[in-house]
Amino acid sequence: MVNDNCRRLSISSVNLENSVEVYLMPTIQYSENTVGCRIGDEIWVHPKLYTEPELYHAIVGHERKHTKGFSVKDITLDIVNDDLEGHKKAYWKFMFKNPKTFLGLLPISKIGPHWTLDGTMLGFSILAAALVWFLLASLL
Ligand SMILES: [Zn+2]
Repeated sequence: MVNDNCRRLSISSVNLENSVEVYLMPTIQYSENTVGCRIGDEIWVHPKLYTEPELYHAIVGHERKHTKGFSVKDITLDIVNDDLEGHKKAYWKFMFKNPKTFLGLLPISKIGPHWTLDGTMLGFSILAAALVWFLLASLL
């Protein structure tokens, strides 16, 4: 899901697909403030995520699909998110066991040394704030 500040591999990927460099990228890093997210060429996962191998592969597989930057593809990827199909229960269980991961759902969060902005979550937050604003305005 969800928090990913995330994302693009290559210009001529057809030729690069089998090269070691492309296969190795992005690199995996560890942060307690997220279950998993993508920042440029790095995938950040929770240090204990390896204890749930199926969830680990679902998350890393999802983050690999993100582009290096931030594009429409990334937004669609997070809204559709069929990568977590069948793993949602494990996902939320993992989050409640490791509550710091909720920090990763905020539009702005600190992952490793990076302060990150999640465009998708920011969009959701603005929509939610607008909704609350209109509800309050119509009540008062
Ligand atoms: Zn994502």
